Amino acid sequence: MARGQLHDGQKGAILARAHMAARRIRQLGDPILRVRCTPVEDPKSPAVRLLSDDLRDTLRVAKKKYDMGRALSAPQIGAPVRVVLVETGKFRATMINPEITDVGSEDFLVWDDCFSFPNLLVRVNRAYRASLSYTDLKGKKVTMELEGPMAELLQHELDHLDGILAIDQPTGLDPFAYKAEWEKHHKPEERYGPPRPREV
Ligand SMILES: [Zn+2]
Repeated sequence: MARGQLHDGQKGAILARAHMAARRIRQLGDPILRVRCTPVEDPKSPAVRLLSDDLRDTLRVAKKKYDMGRALSAPQIGAPVRVVLVETGKFRATMINPEITDVGSEDFLVWDDCFSFPNLLVRVNRAYRASLSYTDLKGKKVTMELEGPMAELLQHELDHLDGILAIDQPTGLDPFAYKAEWEKHHKPEERYGPPRPREV
């Protein structure tokens, strides 16, 4: 190798940096947020890996900007496929073709937020427990039992894959609030209500 040329490792590192791509988060009114997303056929494909990287980079930038956020769905960055990236303190995963396979018998009320309308909170009703299955980037099938905030989070993200938003599911009296106003009148822990038996 001639002096001055890059070896493959260096090239890879430069390409990876060049790819670092925080994309624009699509905002309420953008029709792509209303699309029913297509299942991923090959979870191990390079295209899915790149999408996952873009979701991660976009989420990290958005978290800093808005001081919130634990997940992002592919349609929110303009890719109408069934992929969700979750990155909470303890847990991170790229979920391909995620599905909720079961829910428990209790619901809870949540003041939900969304990067696609970051100034608005909507009170929604969610299942308190859920069983989730998805495929990871290695093509491995994963199942998880979710409770409370994680259950609510994944219900929110999976709704995105079907073009459903929190604003479609307002619950109770006065279910919308600008975040800044809500914060004047509530404590952070009031975002999540207690579990209670499902009303049928
Ligand atoms: Zn959202």
